[in-house]
Amino acid sequence: MSFLAGKRALIVGLATERSIAFGIAEAMRREGAELAISYQNERLKDRVLEMAQGLGAALTMPLDVASDAEIGSAFAALEEHWGSLDILVHSVAFAPREQLAGGYLDSVTREGFLVAQDVSSYSLVALAKAARPLMRDGRGAILTLSYLGAMRSLPSYNVMGPAKASLEANVRFLAQDLGPRGIRVNAISAGPIKTLAAAGIGGFRRMLAHVAEVAPLKRNVTAQEVGNAAAFLCSDLASGITGEVLYVDGGYSQVAMTFPA
Ligand code: NAD
Repeated sequence: MSFLAGKRALIVGLATERSIAFGIAEAMRREGAELAISYQNERLKDRVLEMAQGLGAALTMPLDVASDAEIGSAFAALEEHWGSLDILVHSVAFAPREQLAGGYLDSVTREGFLVAQDVSSYSLVALAKAARPLMRDGRGAILTLSYLGAMRSLPSYNVMGPAKASLEANVRFLAQDLGPRGIRVNAISAGPIKTLAAAGIGGFRRMLAHVAEVAPLKRNVTAQEVGNAAAFLCSDLASGITGEVLYVDGGYSQVAMTFPA
């Protein structure tokens, strides 16, 4: 198949082998893409470098998306190494832990709200700005990861809800901005998956159990399933799709009631 042969992809958001970014990197690699992989900080460096080696990454670099200087250095390294970029995967989110438990009004602070917006939403724009000059010849695909909390309320997700809503709006505005240059921008709204970031959300295990009970597929999705959809969206097979939020959630978001007929 190899429908990403000849494409060069930067994957931002790898932390562990459970990361959604890992599922995406595996799928993209399998489909023939060359990978560059970033790590957030020194704490994650060794683990990410090991995974990057296993994934055959051509390039690895530090990249804290809250730092314009690090974004500049990372894309300078890409420019030097590859000269161009076809795919940017943004699989990053953060809010201080105390924001993600208890009631929304009780936990939210100005600082927590701004951090969540900066790292989880603005960072997509900051990376797109840096990627734009490298995405040449009328081709390019940018993908980010969202969650249903952008559209609906649920316990403990709190400040990440507005951050994901802003992220999805960013997808639409970037799609309009970059469309004339042939650059597509999409999001995948994934169902809950047990990862490091997810573990920080209060009551996450109950979310997994609830989805497995209610979703039409009667189970949770995997990072590999998200990876497959991501590889498709970033490939020429999806050349007509931009500004879209694709749900990879076992159908959970489409269900209203589940009592027996
Ligand atoms: P994860 O913890 O494996 O990945 C989160 C990544 O964000 C980590 O690699 C971390 O290093 C990175 N990150 C955080 N702050 C950063 C910063 N300042 N600079 C650079 N990187 C930073 O968890 P995950 O679940 O794979 O999360 C990836 C994305 O998927 C997130 O946007 C998350 O909201 C989204 N998502 C997750 C789920 C889920 O249930 N796991 C569901 C829907 C959407």
